[in-house]
Amino acid sequence: MSESTSRRRLRAVFLDRDGVLNRAEVRSGKPYPPRQVADFVLLPGVEAACLLLKKYEFLLVVATNQPDVGRGTQSSAAIEAMHDLLVQRVPIDRIEICYDAGDVPSLYRKPEPGMLLRVAADWEIDLHASFMVGDRWRDIDCGNAAGCTTVFIDHGYDEPLRSLPAHRASNLLEAARWIVEQDQKTNRPWKEKEKTGCSALYRYSSSYPPRFMPTAPTVRE
Ligand SMILES: [Mg+2]
Repeated sequence: MSESTSRRRLRAVFLDRDGVLNRAEVRSGKPYPPRQVADFVLLPGVEAACLLLKKYEFLLVVATNQPDVGRGTQSSAAIEAMHDLLVQRVPIDRIEICYDAGDVPSLYRKPEPGMLLRVAADWEIDLHASFMVGDRWRDIDCGNAAGCTTVFIDHGYDEPLRSLPAHRASNLLEAARWIVEQDQKTNRPWKEKEKTGCSALYRYSSSYPPRFMPTAPTVRE
């Protein structure tokens, strides 16, 4: 077997944040993000789900709308503090945040697929071999628009979907098991690896574009 390292097309699981990774506060059938870091609580099974996906060498990319920052009712520092906590607990490779308020068109605010397309372009990710997991219509529309396979975490919010997901699950661990199953069915040469953990961590927000181009993780044959 060749000793050379070749670059395969990478696959990602794009993860919405609130209601997928951490608990969202539900009022009148609608979810709201935590206000402060003390309220940022991971949902059961999230660590196990992320470790499982990393075993199969998926990149884990959080793609989150945080419009309260753009509206001036939340600080980016509070959001960053939550993400500091998040990356201490789970092997996330990159966090994309859209702070846009939603009052003007934005290429990055979900349901637009801009955050996913940017990561895919930076890291040469195969979007058709990638997945998007979310708990709201914006996530599903975004994932579908990017060409990903979508998984809807159904918390029973009082809010209809606008396009259909490929699969429904009740939590991220269930979603992750389904994703691995689908991925294996495609007969790609991806096998479970004992080595886990993430490479470098990159965090961008649409309000503060990256100052450098990250190097995509490479996979050894
Ligand atoms: Mg959500």
